[in-house]
Amino acid sequence: MSEATQSAVYEAVSHVEDPEVPVTLVDLGVVREVSLDGGAVRVVLRPTRLACPARGEMERRVRAAVSSVDEDLAVDVEWEMAQWRGDDVTAPGQQVLLQIGYADPVAESDACPYCGSAEVRQDGRFGGAVCKQPYTCRSCGSTFDVLRGSISTGSGAHHVR
Ligand SMILES: [Zn+2]
Repeated sequence: MSEATQSAVYEAVSHVEDPEVPVTLVDLGVVREVSLDGGAVRVVLRPTRLACPARGEMERRVRAAVSSVDEDLAVDVEWEMAQWRGDDVTAPGQQVLLQIGYADPVAESDACPYCGSAEVRQDGRFGGAVCKQPYTCRSCGSTFDVLRGSISTGSGAHHVR
């Protein structure tokens, strides 16, 4: 009989960081649900990109976090196929991302996080990681990253250049 509580499991999972972005999966809006039923934990994750190669590592870290609470717990990790959006990022996650040089994901903007300029350019369409895109600000010269999926890069949906 496991004595682990749902809050202890959630607490452990809440400390898991994304493999590519130094923000927790909870603050990134990737963790959608953590529930404990008897000796089984169910974790629902929403990938920032469906094709994100870091999914395996995310899942491994979540399983390890649950096991750190009680190694006898069964863990069922489910990937939600819903599209992650920039506004899934929590307010604390948004603050951290802005401080470390990411464009504001909640605003779904690719404006420069340092000076706020919208005069930015993508650095190479195929550069960077699958989950983020490097940019350079034309105004202040800073380089920063935009989380793919937080804006519709490439689709032209709300970017006319
Ligand atoms: Zn700038």
